[in-house]
Amino acid sequence: MTYLNKILYQVTKPARYTGGEWNSVVKDWDKTFLRIALSYPDLYEIGMSNMALPILYELLNSQPDVLAERVYAPWVDMEAAMRTAGIPLFSLESRRPLKDFDIIGFSLGYELTYTNVLNMLHLAQIPVLASERNDSHPVIIAGGSCALNPEPMADFIDSFIIGDGEEVLFELLDCFRDWKRAGTGAPKKELFRQLATIPGIYLPALYQVEYQADGSFKRITPGVAQAKATIQRRIVAKLPPPVTKPVVPYIEVIHDRGAIEIQRGCNRGCRFCQAGTIYRPVRQRPQSEVVQAAGELIANCGYNEVSLVSLSTSDYAGIDELVAKLAHRYPQLSLSLPSLRIDSFSVSLMEALPSRRKSGLTFAPEAGSERLRRSINKNIAESELLKTAAAAFDRGWINLKLYFMLGLPTETIDDIEDIIQLVDKLNSLGRKASGKRPRLRISLSTFVPKPHTPFQWVAQDNEESLSAKHELLNLGLRRKGIRPSWSDPAVSLLEAALSRGDRRLGKVIHRAWQAGSTFDAWSEHFNYGNWLGAFEEAGLEPSFYAQRERPLDEPLPWAHIDVGVTTAFLKQEYRRAIEGIETTDCRYEACNLCGLERWQPDCHHQQQGLTQSK
Ligand code: SF4
Repeated sequence: MTYLNKILYQVTKPARYTGGEWNSVVKDWDKTFLRIALSYPDLYEIGMSNMALPILYELLNSQPDVLAERVYAPWVDMEAAMRTAGIPLFSLESRRPLKDFDIIGFSLGYELTYTNVLNMLHLAQIPVLASERNDSHPVIIAGGSCALNPEPMADFIDSFIIGDGEEVLFELLDCFRDWKRAGTGAPKKELFRQLATIPGIYLPALYQVEYQADGSFKRITPGVAQAKATIQRRIVAKLPPPVTKPVVPYIEVIHDRGAIEIQRGCNRGCRFCQAGTIYRPVRQRPQSEVVQAAGELIANCGYNEVSLVSLSTSDYAGIDELVAKLAHRYPQLSLSLPSLRIDSFSVSLMEALPSRRKSGLTFAPEAGSERLRRSINKNIAESELLKTAAAAFDRGWINLKLYFMLGLPTETIDDIEDIIQLVDKLNSLGRKASGKRPRLRISLSTFVPKPHTPFQWVAQDNEESLSAKHELLNLGLRRKGIRPSWSDPAVSLLEAALSRGDRRLGKVIHRAWQAGSTFDAWSEHFNYGNWLGAFEEAGLEPSFYAQRERPLDEPLPWAHIDVGVTTAFLKQEYRRAIEGIETTDCRYEACNLCGLERWQPDCHHQQQGLTQSK
């Protein structure tokens, strides 16, 4: 591709676009029946750190008649060079234009990547609006956590996969093969109707949406017999084998190490957390599989660091035993454990990690007071938090990173002051243990109410209230010599509007992209003015979606997506949050009847089995 060579020297990090990495799979294009491009709508370095795409890449390429190739959003310099040279967006493996593939699958994990999807389609010379594509264009599919409210992206995506992609993939392929074999006589409309019959697949074009006179959502109705009124999330009963031959990037990426998913799902029940509902129930990978996978990752990729990935790593039954086994078997391997619970066990666990420099510990209390932590169901007593920090300081850690959220439901100014006091107590503890001030890093983000959580009805905190809290924290923490970092409230407002939006937001996303918005997740590219203009042109307001408390009986735009956890359970959890009542983890206590027991009657028994083997 000589024309590509002519532009690569003009751009930063050309290795983002060259492909040819270790373990990448290049199949014979002309001899492969189905061609699929797996796309991550962000920069190469971010996309290459995503856990889901390598699973799909491996599964798809394991099929003899299928090839799967990768594509990421070109950075702005590359995009400009491609547009000037008239080069359409291409895949990394074969460098074929995306428009030559049968299917393009996007992974949607963050609402602020939506404009990049549009931009990638446009750069691929494919119409961004699904209604403007014809039978000659690839089918555009999307999955990931954002697909659990697909409506804002409904104008651009042909088909959403709801839930675990591994579960639905082969049924989708079979359907596509049949359609493609039928040849030119079968219009895409036929394929879409067939796809709609597969559980877990949602085709928005087959539904009609109605709104109330006040602008709120009224209902969504299937327009054809094949479309189901409710789309059930697909759930794999057993985790697929871990990816042990992933593509190894030649440039530094965000997570520059091997990764093994040791567990999927979390039942702790933090009420703000969408992952806690949409990935239920917990499915744990056996220790033997993890140990074997680590060895294969070392052999296949040359990694000397492996991350054991899970939403709540401390809850993996026998995690200490697993770490000991890995340390014994692979003494040269560094291990990292993200998402640890705040307790002394986690500190001991971190200390047991092989070749672990005491670089820093990260904990997420989320709220400053015990009362607010109980309300959000993140039940950590202050005494436990301080005991954990003391244990860390005693064992030589002096860098501690703490995450807090602002604007949580029921939060008052007292809860904000409690953050300052908690930090003060941690400072004193650290000084007592080491004789010098510990290095505390405080990260503050704005709470974003998410669909399918007990807080899906609540209003996001407004700018005025947030800036008062910011000021209070800034003054209080700077007095202690700490400079907190925060997320931009405008970004959080947009995230809240897009995540709880309806189909009308498609116009807003389209307009914002036309006005030049891409890479919205990158502060240097985020243009709030573009977005406000786009909302105005569409006759909508971001605050209507983000900062309006919704009555519990208001129909929700994502209610046709059934994640398994019922609305009745979410309402009950919302009421318990207001009353400050704890709901226990069903892994260790009784089943809370969250709704999954309808689909998996033995859910609770399986989880008790895990507890007993601990
Ligand atoms: S059905 Fe019961 S055991 Fe299963 S995830 Fe829900 S609350 Fe937990």
